[in-house]
Amino acid sequence: MTEATHFYQTFQPTHYNVYIDINRATKKISGTSTITGDAKSETIAVHEKYMTISAVKVDGQDAPFTLDEKAEGIRINVGKTGAVTVAIDYTAPLTDSMMGIYPSYYELNGEKKQIIGTQFETTAARQAFPCVDEPEAKATFDLAIKYDEQPGETILSNMPEIKTEDGVHYFDTTKKMSSYLIAFAFGDLQSKQTTTKSGVKVGVFATKAHQPKELDFALDIAKRSIEFYENFYQTPYPLPHSWQLALPDFSAGAMENWGLVTYREAYLTLDPDNTSLDMKQLVATVIAHELAHQWFGDLVTMKWWDDLWLNESFANMMEYVAIDAIEPDWHIWETFQSSDVPMALQRDATDGVQSVHVNVEDPAEIDALFDSAIVYAKGARMLVMARALVGDDALRKGLKAYFEAHHYGNAKGADLWAALGDASGKDVGTIMNSWLEQPGYPVVSASVVDGQLTLSQKQFFIGDGQDAGRLWQIPLNSNYEAAPAIFKDATVTLGDYAELRQAAGEPFRVNVGNNSHFIVKYDQTLLDDILAHVDDLDATAQLQVLQDLRLLADGRQISYASVVPLLSRFANNPATVVTVALYRLANNLKKFVTPGSAEEKTLQAFYDQLSGQQVARLGWTPQAGESQDDTLTRPYVLNAALYAQNAQAIADAHQLFTANAENLAGLSADIRVFVLRNEVKNFGSAALFDQLITAYQQSSDASYKADIAAAVTATTDAQLIAKLIVAFEDANTVKPQDLRAWYRGVLANDAGQQAAWDWLRNEWGWLEKTVGGDMEFTTYITVTTNIFHTPERLAEFKAFFEPKINTPGLTREIKMDTKVIESRVDLIEAEKDAVNAAVKDATK
Ligand SMILES: [Zn+2]
Repeated sequence: MTEATHFYQTFQPTHYNVYIDINRATKKISGTSTITGDAKSETIAVHEKYMTISAVKVDGQDAPFTLDEKAEGIRINVGKTGAVTVAIDYTAPLTDSMMGIYPSYYELNGEKKQIIGTQFETTAARQAFPCVDEPEAKATFDLAIKYDEQPGETILSNMPEIKTEDGVHYFDTTKKMSSYLIAFAFGDLQSKQTTTKSGVKVGVFATKAHQPKELDFALDIAKRSIEFYENFYQTPYPLPHSWQLALPDFSAGAMENWGLVTYREAYLTLDPDNTSLDMKQLVATVIAHELAHQWFGDLVTMKWWDDLWLNESFANMMEYVAIDAIEPDWHIWETFQSSDVPMALQRDATDGVQSVHVNVEDPAEIDALFDSAIVYAKGARMLVMARALVGDDALRKGLKAYFEAHHYGNAKGADLWAALGDASGKDVGTIMNSWLEQPGYPVVSASVVDGQLTLSQKQFFIGDGQDAGRLWQIPLNSNYEAAPAIFKDATVTLGDYAELRQAAGEPFRVNVGNNSHFIVKYDQTLLDDILAHVDDLDATAQLQVLQDLRLLADGRQISYASVVPLLSRFANNPATVVTVALYRLANNLKKFVTPGSAEEKTLQAFYDQLSGQQVARLGWTPQAGESQDDTLTRPYVLNAALYAQNAQAIADAHQLFTANAENLAGLSADIRVFVLRNEVKNFGSAALFDQLITAYQQSSDASYKADIAAAVTATTDAQLIAKLIVAFEDANTVKPQDLRAWYRGVLANDAGQQAAWDWLRNEWGWLEKTVGGDMEFTTYITVTTNIFHTPERLAEFKAFFEPKINTPGLTREIKMDTKVIESRVDLIEAEKDAVNAAVKDATK
């Protein structure tokens, strides 16, 4: 028999009494974790990390124990099997890693203050108190917390506080739950609260550095999301309260701790009077995502981390289902089409990508599972396919049964498919497993062969890919009835094309709605037919034409030069989703030109041509009563006009800046970033730079701060770039949680790229120490990869990262990203001349 790898196999806790004393001044934690449970062997294992263990008692008697640092635990000889109570005394440091128990820093009226919060997913509860830190080890918890409390401070946890005695705060016993969902926080907080129709208390908490009105939007969305889920899932919210807490330092976006959801401030608080519509939509979807988890993830939890997708893919779909229901005018599924879908299609086309379901053991590898493009975006697309297959009635019925069968317990992917299969009478599992277990996705080729309309499927790659002969069960969603509902073979013939075309009266299409995870390569006959009728297509179908052409060009199945002449026919489309797809494709053309070259000037002229009419139509100032599409389209076309160095656009932005110089934060948030960036780039000075940095440090408005970061990192002044690089490691200016955006901004700036890249290489050790414990760490490599496109940078990238290839958690990222840059460099080398000639031809 092999050695048990999961501690749960040695010890199954039923109840914890956890006492923790936290001292902010000395940065020390001490406590006792008393665990009652069922010993499955005479030597049990309990997780701990970075702790000093002073004593272990078993049923009140001192017991021998050994530390197992590699397994992040202690092994305790309990001398028997069966019911046992283990008490562990410990001390631990309070560190600034944004994991475990950690401080968040902020300033209030010039005074430096801190809030203590927690982040335990995936494996950091073991840094806070000894526990069997595995999702399957569900137990009830009694938390008691003491801290160096100041008058007026508030403490929160998963459950309500029941009493305070001698400065110790005691919380009500939790429901049966996993350790990674335990949370608490304390500090000088403000809150707004309300109650759902069913009586659940809902609250939003933040530091007092925020204006009270910044809590209103989140409170409304949280309340209505919970009410929506209670109805949709046909299952009551299981706890007395649902607190949403904004933490000034936060590594991910948000965390679904049961009853105490924690958020990055940017994803919870916002100024209701001046925040862009897309930012409001983003905040709403983040809140709806975390609240979807309160059932799916918290009430029913994946058995092990290999089924992390069960949590994340599902919550990622439900955030759109919920917001679409409570804010139908937003058409939030369009956001899914223009953000999650392209992210999934791009990443999933690189050979070596993980499948949605991945076997995993090592804690560092567990963190690396959080590949947002795959586990979140692709997984959500998978569930969107499943939802389309079974329909909403069966989905709700299936979910209700799933929650009833597994509540306060754990489940695997197969349990969900079984529930949906039973509810719908369809073999959901077989279809979904072809998407879940296999990496990548197919390109379906549609062509007329000897008069016959023929489809075939093959894995799609950007860059080198090893064809493993994979086939998928593809929901085709064709507009022709002759096409099968599920296409599972390598090829299929649909019949005589001329007859089918005649009978249908419209061009042949598959993946109508763009909800299945594949792209389509139409042959010239079929593509010409679609393009000839492109104005009859709805916005999603037009987006899809651009999306598939872009990917096929990235995958070298067609040439970018052949795509360029098609772009102008999408330029004046009023639908935001089409505009977003258009500029996503047009942005890829920037990689074919050298900064300052004649080719760049021509590309700018092309951009001017694409954006001119829409800029004239929309102007800089949002109009009262304008359509949502106009509001959301404006930023894209203004951005294009500024890239084009359109003189009028530059002057208009400068004029707006001058007119609002006394209150830059008050500039309309929909366009503010372009005004600020234009000013820094074209009219900048050291004084303006310093003024913006000071405003950044003082503002509590995350949107405004993000705009400033985007503006100052666009400076072309070498001395100011040097100042930016210094600010990277100055937490008083750039918090570690925000550093990646600053780094990316400078790296994407032609004038700053060398400095940013030198910084990353020179300061890798510092970066690893500061944010290395964090599941977002690998994204520093990803953002670098998304920018690099020359042979020189490729060589430098390889020289730097190849020696790090065996670092746990980084291996896959380094391998994939090397391939991504290689394929881009090859593409540019091969097609540069033809693409630039095509741009010249297309520019009148
Ligand atoms: Zn999530």
